[in-house]
Amino acid sequence: MESGSTSRDPGTWQDPAPRSPHVTEDPVTTDLHPTLQPMFETVLRRNPGEVEFHQAAHEVFESLSPVVAKRPEYVQASIIERICEPERQIIFRVPWIDDSGKVQINRGFRVEFNSALGPYKGGLRFHPSVYLGIVKFLGFEQIFKNALTGMPIGGGKGGSDFDPKGKSDLEIMRFCQSFMTELYRHIGEYTDVPAGDIGVGGREIGYLFGQYKRITNRYEAGVLTGKGLTWGGSMVRTEATGYGLVYFVDEMLRADKTSFDGKKVVVSGSGNVAIYAAEKVSQLGGTVVAMSDSGGYIVDEGGIDLDLMKEIKEVRRGRISEYAESRGARYVEDGSIWDVPCQIALPCATQNELDENHAASLIENGVEIVAEGANMPTTQAGTRALREAGVRFAPGKAANAGGVATSALEMQQNASRDSWSFEDTDARLREIMQGIFGNCMTTAEEYDMPGDYVAGANIAGFTQVADAMLALGVI
Ligand code: NDP
Repeated sequence: MESGSTSRDPGTWQDPAPRSPHVTEDPVTTDLHPTLQPMFETVLRRNPGEVEFHQAAHEVFESLSPVVAKRPEYVQASIIERICEPERQIIFRVPWIDDSGKVQINRGFRVEFNSALGPYKGGLRFHPSVYLGIVKFLGFEQIFKNALTGMPIGGGKGGSDFDPKGKSDLEIMRFCQSFMTELYRHIGEYTDVPAGDIGVGGREIGYLFGQYKRITNRYEAGVLTGKGLTWGGSMVRTEATGYGLVYFVDEMLRADKTSFDGKKVVVSGSGNVAIYAAEKVSQLGGTVVAMSDSGGYIVDEGGIDLDLMKEIKEVRRGRISEYAESRGARYVEDGSIWDVPCQIALPCATQNELDENHAASLIENGVEIVAEGANMPTTQAGTRALREAGVRFAPGKAANAGGVATSALEMQQNASRDSWSFEDTDARLREIMQGIFGNCMTTAEEYDMPGDYVAGANIAGFTQVADAMLALGVI
């Protein structure tokens, strides 16, 4: 799935990996509202081959039928077409020197999608599968997610097809420095504020921030989020996406008058989002019985030992198979984590990791809730199957918004040169997630789709951005 190779010819391109691990063809099939269908066809025509972007756009378009009927002024002002066209797309060369002295070349991206609500905000992903279509799907989702947080942030995303796996610390640093040597001219605390995503954690943000500071001669803490606690970072940012996801699910459970107590939970991935989702689940009384990485998954029926998992993943940067070796848990290399029976499934690894076959397996095993910690981890067919079977489904743009919301809290602390306690920041995060949940619920009810969190999230996020765009004129 991912290449860990470091030996390459001098001056050659880093080979791009297959685009997406699970999607091989354009998944978009269903017809849309007659006003929306031609708009969507324009998206397909103008962005050929960008299947993940098509999928993300289609998912939002599917929710907008009642909006175009109720708010014709959006159609009149071509708001939907404008939202689908990024304000700016930057693609650049990232040359760097590996440990053997060879020059390597990667491609860097930053898509500044929409700044109607505030500076562009969204993470950087370093993964061999990254190409323009992935950056655009992520940036598009980010617009609506950021709107849902209620914070003054626009949407953007970036990254590179650089593969951090198997690289030395010095190689990572040289790559980050080269990446920032181009990116710095496009970002700023009032312009565009990147953060982490897959392959970009505290270490990479440190190298990126160091190079930004060096080039600009400015200690502009608000230019990046996800910083270390001693140099401008915020408490809870590391935990925020995973904790926020579980706070969202907790609201869903409360609405059903139940709780995490005694529930079996499966969390895919074992990166930043997955680890802290698992931590909060166990704090709230649930039992996480399985986790994964791109090599396979482990099953530990007694509950995952999170100290051991953190040691392997955060300290050693090792593989999940090492967990099985240390604990005597079951390790499965060829198979799907979604075959493990559970009441709550939290996909927290990557896009399109849960398709209709996985959904069928989850349904057969009695899953009650699926909530997306990753961005677009469920295919459209997977989502449809789950919802038709009555499974409560929380889309990523609502359920995983805690990370970016806490990034906005980090920006607030940087602007006021303040730093808040863990407890205060965590309480703010929880309130924000409760607010997003309430907004999704009430919007779904307002548009006659009670309990439909997908429609609620898409419509609430979209209308907020659309209203700001109308107010700002044709720009
Ligand atoms: P990390 O890089 O920390 O972790 C990613 C995890 O997913 C790793 O365990 C990785 O395994 C696994 N993974 C990646 N690709 C695949 C694959 N093709 N098949 C199976 N497993 C895979 O990333 P994050 O935890 O930060 O991000 C995870 C998801 O959450 C992404 O979709 C991201 O966009 C989304 N997200 C992240 C936020 C954040 O604050 N970090 C905020 C909102 C959303 P391996 O190590 O083997 O590659």
